[in-house]
Formats: sequence, structure tokens, C-alpha cells
Amino acid sequence: MTTKDEAMTAVRTLLAYLEGEGNANREGLEATPQRVIDSWGEVFSGYGQSAAELLNATFNGEGYDGIVLLRNIEFHSTCEHHLQPFRGRAHVAYIPVERIVGISKLARLVDLHARRLQNQERITKSVADDLETHLHPLGAAVILEASHGCMQCRGVAKQEAIMTTSAMRGVFFDKSEARSELMQLIQQPVL
Ligand code: ZN
Repeated sequence: MTTKDEAMTAVRTLLAYLEGEGNANREGLEATPQRVIDSWGEVFSGYGQSAAELLNATFNGEGYDGIVLLRNIEFHSTCEHHLQPFRGRAHVAYIPVERIVGISKLARLVDLHARRLQNQERITKSVADDLETHLHPLGAAVILEASHGCMQCRGVAKQEAIMTTSAMRGVFFDKSEARSELMQLIQQPVL
């Protein structure tokens, strides 16, 4: 198990690699290893959380059988291939069978997966998997739109490119009517 001190030493090594041994000791970089590792505590806080715990508390849906959609959930994540940030919006929906969850849980579920080393496909699939596993809904749908730092500041250098991924489960996969209704709701003007 790597300790925090070892992780900070590793950052110091990276700074020396970038700046050269002498320059890496300047004042502005003195506390950078500490700041980097502390900020990673937030950026990668998803590792300390479990979807089972998050979706544990459900409520009686009192017969509600329509779409529950939380859209425009902003998220920040980190590409596991380049350690570059990627950021965007998630739209998360389900159709409950008896049990519903507090709506903030859907946003927290996105963060739980986004705040790890990731690719966008895996976040999308994982959120849909968790909804299915823990809520047993009639359908679950997850759509992510994101711009990727590793494509903007390096490599192919496309600033405006947006990557979209989607996972459709249950009735959203089987029935084009359910999918159409969902898409209409997602495209409603923002309040
Ligand atoms: Zn990348």
C-alpha cells in the first residue's frame, strides 16, 4: 500500500522531471506535492464510496410509474490513459417499480463513478448497471456528453468535439416509444 508520503515524493520526482532538479525547488512548487495529493483526495473521492450504500435508502413510489429523469448533471472526471480531465453533463433516468430514490442520489451516483480514473464508456455503463442492480426499475437510461482534455490540449487537438455515450436498459432498450419520450424530456428548454 502506497503511503501519502510516498505519493508526495513521487510528485516531487515528476516536478524534477519537468523542471530540472534545481528549478523544482523554487518557492511556488514547494507545497505543490502536498496540494496535488490533497486535491486528488477530492478528484478521486469516488474510490471511497459504494453504490450499494448510496442506493440503499429507497422510498415507496406510491404507484408512480413514469420516467424519473435528472438531466444536466455536470461532472468532472479523469481519463485513465493520460491523467487528463474530461468534463461534461450526464442525463440519468429510470422508471421505478414500487421503489424510488432521493433525486440527489442520481447525481451522487454519477460523481461516485466520475471521481475515479475512468473512461467515459465505463462511467455510462456503471451508472446504468447500478440503477438496474439496486433499484430493479422497468428501465434505466444514462447519457453522457463530455469534452476530453486529452483531445483538446494534445494529440488530435480538437477543442469543440463532444463525445456522447449512452446505456439503455429494460424498456428504454426494448421500446423506441420510451426512448423517444426520454429524448424529448432531455431536450426540453432549461427552466
Ligand atoms: Zn485520454
